[in-house]
Amino acid sequence: MLARFRDQVAIVTGGATGIGRAIVERLVDDGATVVVADINEKDGREVAEAIGTEKAVFQRLDVTDKSSADAGVAAILSRFGRLDIHVNNAGIVNRAPFLEYDLDAWCTVLNVNLTGAFICGQASARAMAEAGRGRIINIASVSGQFGGTGRVAYGASKAGIISLTQAMAMELGTYGITVDAIAPGPTQVARLAHGPRQREAFLSRMALKRYALPADIAAAASFLASADAAHITGHVLNVDGGFAAAGVLFD
Ligand code: NAD
Repeated sequence: MLARFRDQVAIVTGGATGIGRAIVERLVDDGATVVVADINEKDGREVAEAIGTEKAVFQRLDVTDKSSADAGVAAILSRFGRLDIHVNNAGIVNRAPFLEYDLDAWCTVLNVNLTGAFICGQASARAMAEAGRGRIINIASVSGQFGGTGRVAYGASKAGIISLTQAMAMELGTYGITVDAIAPGPTQVARLAHGPRQREAFLSRMALKRYALPADIAAAASFLASADAAHITGHVLNVDGGFAAAGVLFD
């Protein structure tokens, strides 16, 4: 069987850990050469070395820095001659009550999660528009679709990602580029620090009664980047174990 992404080149921001790492590994398994773009050099290099065989390479890239993003895309084009798939995955979260939420923290979260996706998405989309094809996948969150306490900037940034996805899809379709979002629910990654009460509250409204694995999100990214999703654009795909279907908390 031919690999899904044979000869294709992808970039995954925030690919050093968690969901991003799983997306890197899945795209490589499906035949792509993948650039792991992250500020975390130690883990990013480790991911690329673990995959080896030059199917994954690390590139230091800060999504909030336009010159870093532009240089990253230029380096990909010069090394591989093409860029087919871009995954805007880098993200941070900061928790505090709304009345105490610090303005600097708000700006930092919005800058990484939303402005970073704009900066990097634009850099890749310009190269893809030249080529007349491309797939862009933005990692949103159920937090961008529902209210939640203590994550005002995070939720706003992810709601912004959904709107950015739809706006990019409308403008880039004419260049043969699709733009979609994935909205994960709670996903088991190393940095996740949900206590028992929080975990129980999330699980109570998830039909499948388990947190996602990073590989669950990666499988959706692979689908959206594939030829099977050729006529899907501007879509938000929830990968949340039924979280969005619940509507209300139940016991
Ligand atoms: P994570 O902390 O493991 O991964 C985030 C990665 O982004 C890290 O490798 C980090 O170094 C990188 N990063 C941070 N700032 C960066 C910058 N300025 N430039 C480049 N890279 C940067 O977290 P994760 O849970 O794997 O999150 C990945 C994405 O999934 C995020 O967008 C997050 O909001 C989203 N998400 C996660 C969950 C969850 O429950 N884990 C749920 C919904 C959505």
